[in-house]
Amino acid sequence: MTQVFPTLTGIGVSPGIAIGPIRRVTRAEIAHAVPATAMQVFAALDSVATDLEKRSMTVALDVARDVLSAQAMIARDPALVEAIGARLPEPIEYPDVKPAIQDAFAGFKTALESLGGYFAERVADLDEIATRTIARLSGVEDEDLVLNQPSIIVAQDLTPADTAALDLNFAKALVVEKGGPTSHTAIVARGLGIPAVVGCAGVMGLAEGATVLVDGRDGSVILEPSPGEIDTRQTREGALRARAASVSGPGRLSDGTPVTLMANAGNAADAVAAALVGAEGIGLFRTELLFLDRETEPSVSEQIELYKSVFEAMVGHKVILRTLDAGSDKPVPFINAIAEENPALGVRGWRLTRTADEVLSRQLEAVGKAAALVQTEVWVMAPMINTATEAAHFAARARAAGIKRVGVMIETPAAAIGADKVLVEVDFASLGTNDLTQYVMAADRLDSRLSDLTSTWHPAVLRTIGMAANAAGTMAMPIGVCGESAANPQLAAVLIGLGVTSLSMAPSALAEVRGFLASVDRATCLRAALAVSNASSADEAKALAIEILGV
Ligand code: PEP
Ligand code: MG
Repeated sequence: MTQVFPTLTGIGVSPGIAIGPIRRVTRAEIAHAVPATAMQVFAALDSVATDLEKRSMTVALDVARDVLSAQAMIARDPALVEAIGARLPEPIEYPDVKPAIQDAFAGFKTALESLGGYFAERVADLDEIATRTIARLSGVEDEDLVLNQPSIIVAQDLTPADTAALDLNFAKALVVEKGGPTSHTAIVARGLGIPAVVGCAGVMGLAEGATVLVDGRDGSVILEPSPGEIDTRQTREGALRARAASVSGPGRLSDGTPVTLMANAGNAADAVAAALVGAEGIGLFRTELLFLDRETEPSVSEQIELYKSVFEAMVGHKVILRTLDAGSDKPVPFINAIAEENPALGVRGWRLTRTADEVLSRQLEAVGKAAALVQTEVWVMAPMINTATEAAHFAARARAAGIKRVGVMIETPAAAIGADKVLVEVDFASLGTNDLTQYVMAADRLDSRLSDLTSTWHPAVLRTIGMAANAAGTMAMPIGVCGESAANPQLAAVLIGLGVTSLSMAPSALAEVRGFLASVDRATCLRAALAVSNASSADEAKALAIEILGV
């Protein structure tokens, strides 16, 4: 009898297929007492900081360099030194300094965790510094990951220092149990262009040296893959890449139906990357990403410069700027000062007019002024619009600031179900399928334990998208998708079948989506949309779409 090996599933965060033996990265737990004086602890922290600085200067990858120097700065933060000093006040040797160090770091970790999202994922950085400091005091040398053959790196979580030390000739893919799409592992893997899967429960239970196939596109990790499985996945990956390379120009279906393909951007560098891959515009400019680390609000003139820098990268094209989507997974220090019980359902996005109205007024003023300075078509939309009243409020404010095309994001069930009323107030709509999926499925988009629920393939989500697209279609209004779903080639075709008119995605995904759409016609997209809407699960919907649309 042939043995069937398990397939584990996580979140695919960097596409590609890799096959190889597992190399597990485990960290030696220092369970014994670590005696030291306060001065020795400070010296250890200092030497960890120096070491991180040195690594940051030698590492080749930009993102890894940034994270390492940020970690070094944390290790040198006087507040941290003070917190440790307060716990070890006497000039004596303490029998075990571990609890004092862990406790001092715990305070900082709680503060980051309560901010959620991107910040919560930085907690791993603090753990890394604490672990290294304790290791240094116990005389345990940092062990770099030495690879002597092509390997699949498997870990609980990879720290920036781990990834900085990876030998790129041998690291074929990264798979970690923890982490989300914005975790360090995801960012580094995309930077390196190797497949990666995060939030992969159970992967640390696989044996060292066992052969696995990693599919960074759908997040599968297959133990001892059969030759047939390897062949199917490699063929699919190869076909997607080949098709991507063979098609250029504006987005079209095989029958010539135009589908505007744009890119998401958070800053001018992203917009330049978008222009390089032939994006037909920026479909989502996430302005809050410019301000995640700002303690104080940038002035109107500084904002004008920042927005202008993105508009200028897209002269002659369109940029859809989103007003600040601060709150929940993207807290901005100068706006979201108050901790909320339930931030995803709290004061975020356009709801900030209730608590920080002036900030949004100044942003609209800056956007209106920046738009007047460039030859770029600037459209502006507000996030988390839920009702027709909010849509009308936003539209009036944006138009008063001189903005010509105003729209709303549809990312809540109320906005999608009530789209026939909400959209009357505006010129265009953009479906934020990341949030729409989270709210339709009542499942936190950042919780990797719920990743099976937070799938846009779920028919309930797809039907909700269909309702909004129908409402827009009746009014002949453009309606785009700017969530992650637009980056999946088959799902992109389904979205077009549901009535969506444009797609916006990470620049790196654009060529593949363009290539895939050029292989299907409108009738097939419609057939796929109908089939997935009538499926009874996300898996069934996806399987039906692949059957109808091909791979
Ligand atoms: C979305 O929710 O789909 C979206 C595009 O916005 P963000 O991911 O920034 O919340
Ligand atoms: Mg959103």
